[in-house]
Amino acid sequence: MSKKSLIEKVVEGSAVVDGCMHWKGALVHGRIPVVWFDGKPVNIRSALWKAAGKRLKPGCIVKSSCGEDRCVSPECAVQQKNARGGTTTPLHRAKIAATMQRLRSPLSAQDVEDIRASDEPPEVLARRYDMRADSIVCILSGRRWAPISNPFSGLLGAR
Ligand SMILES: [Zn+2]
Repeated sequence: MSKKSLIEKVVEGSAVVDGCMHWKGALVHGRIPVVWFDGKPVNIRSALWKAAGKRLKPGCIVKSSCGEDRCVSPECAVQQKNARGGTTTPLHRAKIAATMQRLRSPLSAQDVEDIRASDEPPEVLARRYDMRADSIVCILSGRRWAPISNPFSGLLGAR
């Protein structure tokens, strides 16, 4: 009797969604995809990580960088410290901070510099950037986007 390999089982049990592989089977704690293999549940992301010849550092787990708990795509796999409270790598933190920054403000850092450098009235700038004039005033006065040289500093300081 030929047994399916773990990878075959994972591929069969997953659906390709937006370039990711979403596991259709069981999740442990609602966020760790597991496959029943060789008589025991196996953490799919960790198994694929090791199958790719990569080492898992002590105290680390494999997470999906796309943010989808069901995703088992090796493309999305990232190694993270398994600490409660969500300790992540500096690179991951910077990514999160950049995403939050984008959500908070529709402007890029370059836009903000342009607005600050401009001597046009706030109403004109507001129309150009599709914002409210009082938001422009905030930017001009520096209340929003405080230190432009380091867009992450506000977020990192707020922990
Ligand atoms: Zn993914």
